[in-house]
Amino acid sequence: MEHFYRDTWVEVDLDAIEQNVTNALRLYKDREMNLMAVVKANGYGHGAVEVSQAALRAGASYLSVAFLDEALALRKAGIDAPILVMGLVDAEHVQLAIKHRITLTVYQLDWLEQAISRLHTRDKLAIHLKLDTGMGRIGLRREEDIRSCMDFISSHECFELEGVFTHFATADEKDLTYFKKQCQRFNQWLEYIREWQLPIRYVHCGNSAAGLRFPEKNFNMFRFGIAMYGLTPSPEITDELPFPLKQAFSLKSRLSNVKKLPKGEGISYGATYVTEGAEWIGTLPIGYADGWIRHHSNAGGHVLIDGKRAPFVGLICMDQCMIRLPKKHSIGDTVTLIGESDGKQITMDEVAKRLNTINYEIPCVISWRVPRIYFRDGQIISVKNNLL
Ligand SMILES: *Cc1c(COP(=O)(O)O)cnc(C)c1O
Repeated sequence: MEHFYRDTWVEVDLDAIEQNVTNALRLYKDREMNLMAVVKANGYGHGAVEVSQAALRAGASYLSVAFLDEALALRKAGIDAPILVMGLVDAEHVQLAIKHRITLTVYQLDWLEQAISRLHTRDKLAIHLKLDTGMGRIGLRREEDIRSCMDFISSHECFELEGVFTHFATADEKDLTYFKKQCQRFNQWLEYIREWQLPIRYVHCGNSAAGLRFPEKNFNMFRFGIAMYGLTPSPEITDELPFPLKQAFSLKSRLSNVKKLPKGEGISYGATYVTEGAEWIGTLPIGYADGWIRHHSNAGGHVLIDGKRAPFVGLICMDQCMIRLPKKHSIGDTVTLIGESDGKQITMDEVAKRLNTINYEIPCVISWRVPRIYFRDGQIISVKNNLL
């Protein structure tokens, strides 16, 4: 097990990840459904290897990442499950993908032509064809382009068209007008693709929101990202989710200094906070270089200490920040920045709201300077410290 010596860390509850996957698959217990665990961005900041292993234990059958390096990192860690790269991989790297059995996303005829010049006759490159039904990001958008790609794929045996997919822009909203338009387009474009009668193993469109809210819209696979980590795809649909999600990520630190200050003393750069009376001020060894950005203090953020709230005071520094304690505490006392303390909670959604952003962004930006501790059955099973 790796070690770390600093007093700030992330705890990842792998049981929560497993539970979220199990509950999601239970929605589909009466029919075939494959769950693709989305572990891009190092598992939304949780740690891609550990999250992948937990998801696979709980029944996930596929993994997906954003780019090739992320897929290779999983292989290097000994993960054997199929992996889809959902973003563009330059055609010059197809041999690397074949060597490591990595599935690539395809949506351009040019790309297919470039790839073919790098493939040997016996090669089999697994691909998923991406359709842009309204996300406006990547994917085929026109019938004639879909047809020319299908012609090319079907006439070259080294391509194995294993999947077809699209991505929704608004599956997490109450208003379903745009979502339905995307579904309709996807169905129509799948009709064109079926004319080639290729055996396509996976058809997938759903992200967490669609996978949980609209089981009937998902074909035989959905891509489970944010909700696997126990976070809602958006606050406006939390009440519609079919089971309570269990948040896996907590962020904790320990007081590195405690002092009582009289009224009128300045705190941190610019001395923008001045004590309003006699106050207990605590220092935490976490700062913006850990992803705990300066706005946390400006926006009126809190931490929990023994279940009590304590506000940030003064600007957040690169490696440290200050809080106003509800009472005298000792150096070394634990503080919760995200997660539970004595039955009280600071949720990812609270933190996201504070920073005017979405919950997805918060664990992603807690930097890898902060070690991750992995729990299973209440026991620490591993520790990741990227520094040593
Ligand atoms: C990130 C991503 C997902 C996961 O979406 P969630 O809302 O986190 O479930 C699914 N599909 C694609 C193409 C993605 O890029």
